[in-house]
Amino acid sequence: MSVGKIEADWLRDERLQSILGVLAADGEEARVVGGAVRTHLFGEPIGDVDIATTCPPEETVRRAEAAGMKTVPSGIEHGTVIIVAGHQGFETTTLREDVETDGRRAKVRFGRDWEADARRRDFTVNALYCEADGTIVDHVGGLADIEARAIRFIGEPEERIREDYLRILRFFRFFAWYGTGRPDTHGLLACTRLKDGLSGLSAERIWTEMRRLLEAPDPSRAILWMRQAGVLTRVLPESEKWGIDAMRPLIDAERAFKWQPQALLRLAAIIPHMPDRAAAVAERWKLSNAERDRLIDWAEAPDVKPDLSEAAFAKLLYRSKPHAVQDRVRLALASARAKANDNPEWLEAVANYARLTRFAESWKKPKFPLAGADMIDAGFSQGPRMGQALRDLEERWIESGFRLDRDTLLDEAKSLSG
Ligand code: ATP
Ligand code: MG
Repeated sequence: MSVGKIEADWLRDERLQSILGVLAADGEEARVVGGAVRTHLFGEPIGDVDIATTCPPEETVRRAEAAGMKTVPSGIEHGTVIIVAGHQGFETTTLREDVETDGRRAKVRFGRDWEADARRRDFTVNALYCEADGTIVDHVGGLADIEARAIRFIGEPEERIREDYLRILRFFRFFAWYGTGRPDTHGLLACTRLKDGLSGLSAERIWTEMRRLLEAPDPSRAILWMRQAGVLTRVLPESEKWGIDAMRPLIDAERAFKWQPQALLRLAAIIPHMPDRAAAVAERWKLSNAERDRLIDWAEAPDVKPDLSEAAFAKLLYRSKPHAVQDRVRLALASARAKANDNPEWLEAVANYARLTRFAESWKKPKFPLAGADMIDAGFSQGPRMGQALRDLEERWIESGFRLDRDTLLDEAKSLSG
């Protein structure tokens, strides 16, 4: 049923309008669906635009290309084609109806029934359609749930989760972004009952959802509910008996110090500071190499005491991975701020960690003034003895607070080689 209209710049976009126009010609229909409609209605800037259409996939390709647009058949057997217009991709999917399912992959056939297409989506707020002129079509009560900021499964939650266990994580992801108060009782209960099914999901799907959950403005309440439901322990056993309570202080500190929110630092906040645990998470979720390094570097970074002098801190930064030390100090600062709320004795640590954080942020790694060629000039020949001497000199230079200059170091090298 259609209920009201929206006005939005993203919807007036010429490329989007021309795609919708081309697909909707000659008795077919096309509408925007999913994240864009949901996000817009929640009053936030939208990301990708997904389109649903009655055109079968080959027809979608034919029409888009006849209109001079490129297409990528990204999942054409499931009805999905990406239409590329002006460097932007629009994921376009033919209406589908479920025929049967094995718990992960639904067998689908293409359909023309918008209500049936809506009913196979996960949550009411994700099943709203928007026509080219802004008319909103709602078959599942999604608008009321946007109003109430309620994340509700379409249909019977347990049934919907058995079709795809990823929906458990999506439930908490959307709650993290938009939810208020408690999560929907039926949904929460179903997630609690069926959490065992999470073990059948692929690492990639889990990490994609968890990353998006962790990117929410404030994921801390969702994380608490996930723990309450026993879901967090299933996907992230490392967080058990550990401070998931550290999440909220981190969010507060991000806001107070205008730190860019980072999913990986938020993840680090809720797992033990131990390299083997960090490695286990990275392995289980198949993190990218860069993500894995970031997490493990953080876990390997040394403890930083709040009363460390800046001179000593500079040496520590030089000898470790600076970004990892910075992650550690940020988390230490966040946690000290939370403790100071209850106990003013922590205020000094807060001030000190804030000072070290600023220091780390503006610190530039000094460059050791000598290289192998200088050692050879100083009379060394290539080999382990030279390597050792170079390391010793670097060590003396670090201990000097990076003050020994090149000439002094060269003199030292000459006397060492003699
Ligand atoms: P975003 O793109 O912001 O992450 P989205 O809601 O657009 O959010 P997509 O993964 O792009 O998420 O999916 C588009 C739409 O497809 C969803 O809004 C939902 O209607 C449907 N959908 C996606 N994944 C599932 C799923 N696991 N079960 C049922 N429906 C789903
Ligand atoms: Mg999307």
